[in-house]
Amino acid sequence: MTLLAFLPVAAVDHVLDGYVKARETGNLQVLVDAITHDAQETVQDGVQSLRRILANSPSLCATTFLQNVGAELGANPFLRQVIVENDDGVQYCAAFDQTVRYRTLSENLAIPGFTETLSVVTLEGRQTPLLKITQSFGRDRAVSALVIASPMLLREAMSLTAEIDYLQVALTSGTSILLRGDAAVEQEAERGDYLFARSFAGEIPLKAEAAISFALVRADYSPLDVGFNVVACFLGMLTLVLAIQYARKADIAVFDLERAIVAGEMKPYYQPVINLKTGKLTGCEVLIRWVKKNGEIIPPGVFIDYAEMSGLAIPMTLSLMEQVRYDLEDICRQVPEFKVSINLFEGHFRDGSIVDDIQSVFEGSGISYRQLVFEITERRPLDDKAAANRVMTAMHKLGVRIAMDDAGTGHSNLAYLQTLGIDIIKIDKIFVEMIKDPRTPVPVIDGLIAMARELDIEIVAEGVETQEQALYLRARNVVFAQGYLFAPPMKLSAFLVLANALKPVGHESNLEPGFAVA
Ligand code: C2E
Ligand code: CA
Ligand code: CA
Repeated sequence: MTLLAFLPVAAVDHVLDGYVKARETGNLQVLVDAITHDAQETVQDGVQSLRRILANSPSLCATTFLQNVGAELGANPFLRQVIVENDDGVQYCAAFDQTVRYRTLSENLAIPGFTETLSVVTLEGRQTPLLKITQSFGRDRAVSALVIASPMLLREAMSLTAEIDYLQVALTSGTSILLRGDAAVEQEAERGDYLFARSFAGEIPLKAEAAISFALVRADYSPLDVGFNVVACFLGMLTLVLAIQYARKADIAVFDLERAIVAGEMKPYYQPVINLKTGKLTGCEVLIRWVKKNGEIIPPGVFIDYAEMSGLAIPMTLSLMEQVRYDLEDICRQVPEFKVSINLFEGHFRDGSIVDDIQSVFEGSGISYRQLVFEITERRPLDDKAAANRVMTAMHKLGVRIAMDDAGTGHSNLAYLQTLGIDIIKIDKIFVEMIKDPRTPVPVIDGLIAMARELDIEIVAEGVETQEQALYLRARNVVFAQGYLFAPPMKLSAFLVLANALKPVGHESNLEPGFAVA
């Protein structure tokens, strides 16, 4: 009898076990499928690069050949090297004018339906294995392209898979390409200790496997803690996977993005920033749009992550800054207090070339450094704080200012903002949205405002859509705001019409003293 009383509990447990097993194994499957899909696309892109090089080069290693190699290396971010060699490994030439030292880790496998073959290699001094795609040429020569095996895993995704106990990408012959954790879990998976999933790339000889401890994921489903961690982690993965697939499907190949940058299809749109006290224009935020030749306008949400992942974010920003200089020089000369805000990527704060880029674009231009603001989002943490600090110090030396974008959504606290030397915070629209009427306080916003005041940091409110929100902010002495209430981001011609109507004129400007000039 007593035993029977426990039955429902045991049954619930059993049902929950089954549910967790099915659901988490499904999630794991999505992950390994994404990995093989990603690797397959990368290899196929590599094959296309190799074929274009060969199709457009009359002879191997001649100038045209090397130029074509250079062009493909620029267009395909996952392509790392191109080598011409013979069967004995004697090299005739390679990109970057190098003799490439590498080790071969696997046999050469055929790619069904292709004339190219596939093997795994590592470059001397490097750990990350590369996939070598080889096309034989003539009697004993071969041309090979080396590509990154799994771009997805090299990037952010790795941290999203932190909970995974075992992850392996391998050739179907068994040669491991990437391995994390212990392959022995495969046996334990049979005993039910681990959940296990495997995926074969349909068109290249490559597979991916992953396992996760069942006890661990099961614990996350305990009634007290309904698995938020695991679910959140997998949701993150899923978003990434979908983003990658969307980008691929929408045919936004990196090649396309790079071509679009070169062709000048990446255009700055300008959203006015308004002074809430005077109703005048005080500046603008630059927001990128991909304006295709057929007139289609693609918003940044579609390509921005892809640009960041592929390394194209840096040249994209440079091209944007050049256009901004050209577009806004006149208004910046006429209105000395006019401010231009430009969004940067996390990567800009790692390598420091942004400081040179800012100088090369704006030095001696009609836009002075003190009219420039650079925004860094708080949504993503800055991984290398020391490097970020160095870059920001160099930027401050030039005289430009730095804004923390999307303030309140991420990782910053008082101390963090202080150590970074942030000059401006931009209150995110999710907080502004909370303002329903001018008399009901919104504690989060009031807190952000108080914090900024204490640190002597200027405030800009984003996403202001209603009169009530504008009034609430103005009552708390928030002076600068942008949002659909005033204007959406606009193309240059429309922005200039509005700017002329709203600009404060020279020194007769009715801007409040004290913030008119930084
Ligand atoms: P963000 O920097 O937070 O930019 C503000 C976004 O809010 C813009 O979206 C803008 O169009 C939108 N917005 C403006 N006013 C309102 C409003 O009243 N209500 C609502 N709901 N939205 C408003 P957009 O242009 O689609 O840009 C999205 C994000 O893409 C930007 O968010 C920024 O993080 C990124 N981004 C855009 N251009 C660039 C760029 O040139 N470089 C970098 N690094 N990131 C960019
Ligand atoms: Ca921004
Ligand atoms: Ca923002």
